Amino acid sequence: MDRLPASYLPASCLRPARSSVSSAQSCEPPVCKSGFRARPLAWPLLLALLLGSGYSLAAAPAQPAAPSQPTDPFLQSGPAAAQGGLRAAPSAQTLTVAAFGTPRFSSATASTRAVFDLPAGLRYVLTPTYSGLRLDVSFAPGQMQTLAAQHLIAPGNAVSDYTLTPDPSGGGQLLLQTPFPLGGTQGWTASETSIASGGRVLIVTLGAALSGGADSSVSGSVQSVAAPSVSGTAGVGSGPAAPLPVAGAQGDQLPPGDTTAPPNSGTLPAVTPALNGSADSSRLTSGTVSGSGAGAPILAAPRVGKNPGLTRVVLDLPPGTGFRVTPLPLGLRIDLTGVNASQLVSQADLTPELRAWSFAPNLTGVSLTLLTAFPITLRSGWRDVLLPAGGNGQLARLALDISPALADTTPMGALALAPLRSSRGSMLAFSGAPNRPKVVLDPGHGGSDPGAIGQVVEKEVTLAVARRVRADLNTAGIDVIMTRDADTQLAASKNTDLKMRAELGTGAAQLFVSIHVNSMEANAALRGYGIETWWNPNHPNSQALAASIQQGAVATTAAYSRGLHNTQSLAVLRQSRIPAALVEIGYTSHPVDGLNLKDSNYLDRVAYGVASGIRDALQGGLGANWR
Ligand SMILES: [Zn+2]
Repeated sequence: MDRLPASYLPASCLRPARSSVSSAQSCEPPVCKSGFRARPLAWPLLLALLLGSGYSLAAAPAQPAAPSQPTDPFLQSGPAAAQGGLRAAPSAQTLTVAAFGTPRFSSATASTRAVFDLPAGLRYVLTPTYSGLRLDVSFAPGQMQTLAAQHLIAPGNAVSDYTLTPDPSGGGQLLLQTPFPLGGTQGWTASETSIASGGRVLIVTLGAALSGGADSSVSGSVQSVAAPSVSGTAGVGSGPAAPLPVAGAQGDQLPPGDTTAPPNSGTLPAVTPALNGSADSSRLTSGTVSGSGAGAPILAAPRVGKNPGLTRVVLDLPPGTGFRVTPLPLGLRIDLTGVNASQLVSQADLTPELRAWSFAPNLTGVSLTLLTAFPITLRSGWRDVLLPAGGNGQLARLALDISPALADTTPMGALALAPLRSSRGSMLAFSGAPNRPKVVLDPGHGGSDPGAIGQVVEKEVTLAVARRVRADLNTAGIDVIMTRDADTQLAASKNTDLKMRAELGTGAAQLFVSIHVNSMEANAALRGYGIETWWNPNHPNSQALAASIQQGAVATTAAYSRGLHNTQSLAVLRQSRIPAALVEIGYTSHPVDGLNLKDSNYLDRVAYGVASGIRDALQGGLGANWR
């Protein structure tokens, strides 16, 4: 975890903000041309949560597969078991009622079932929260059982961890953490049934696509998740979200540089430096704030600051607070220990990046869930940093940036592309064999044609990346023909220039790959981020080549994938006689994606990804006249 001076954060994020979001700022939602709109996916979850409606979670992207039959030997009969059709288990041993708190877990593809033995006199309250299902348990007088603390990591596909925290005054609290938010009846089911030995079991099933909540057999009570809307302490404007702008105007459909559109007009959004985050790409940040506090102080609501293209969330952490950040498919969970808070749910649609946040208190502290408007991965969509306590009583702060354009910019390390093998099995990397394949790399633009200009100049970045791709390909035993290896153009006329580039591959190479940087007009700049690859039906293998490059580039950068696009109008592809693709490696016009393009680690990563896509395409037999 990096430690940064407080001055690294904009002042609006560091003071207890009353209103740190300027409604005047242009905050476009993350919408892309390929038709993916994150908003409608996350919104029903939130709506269901807030309103307790019967909305089905079937559309949730986190767990797309339908739950299948459980594999728990107790519950072979599947859903019927939950209605009392539980079969007698074959041996006496499996019928022994274990000490409470040791559930039997079983998982199907997209759901996990936990079966708890219910001792006599047990009382429980079920609370569905953003971050999972909580069970608060107590015992009737005279029937007290001592519970042992437990913590299981990933006991099932739909349960990220399970903890049992004994309450010193009797009973305890059980947390079944899920990577998706639960609603009053969404994301979970619970039922009780008797088993052959005469005991009773509580069956809890968790899965993003489930709905139903607790059925009438449940003897415990269910605490409503709906909480009053939080006050203005989050510092975010109120009222309904602005209407969505219409995406995909006709002019967006072509990458720049091959159109005659004028260069960027207007003023691009201001750039806020994103948090550096951890240098470790397998980041799972956790830690403890130094010092020790008295008791469990009340945790203040997080401050939410809106910057162009990203939202910054800052949490003040009293001394002694422990924290652990866990990425969820559509958000982040921050488990905090040693602090207290009441259950809170923020307003909906806080910013284009942040749908909402919630506090879910538990026996060890508080779980803060941030619901994002776009998918999160371990390596992308967020960064965090712990800022130490300062003078004048300034608490330590955990700052988190969330933006769909935050890609993986951690160093690659020394990673060599796997050598290409010829059809006879020899590794071409180490042979001077005449059958080493050749690839044309085309760094877009050059000379008097700079391409897109924003945080970077396109012609400079495309050449820098093409040179990296060449080095990676050479390592794998693939020769490269560059259309240019300097700041030049091939002809004064754009049409002639593109034709000459395309013809360099004819009869001389197996694949043609053009590298470009994308941009949007200033008034739409926040809508453009991520990687996309274009192809033309000039050759039957072009689409598969584009897919391989897109897959490779997204895998190494964890960047937002805008997918593949088919075009008839890109001359450099249309005029190519061999399989050809054009990759757009990012947007110079986006305040966060532009920072990626300025980062040499990102350029290393995207180059390695493009090279691995080319290598895989050749190995898969997509090259013209080469096996
Ligand atoms: Zn271009």
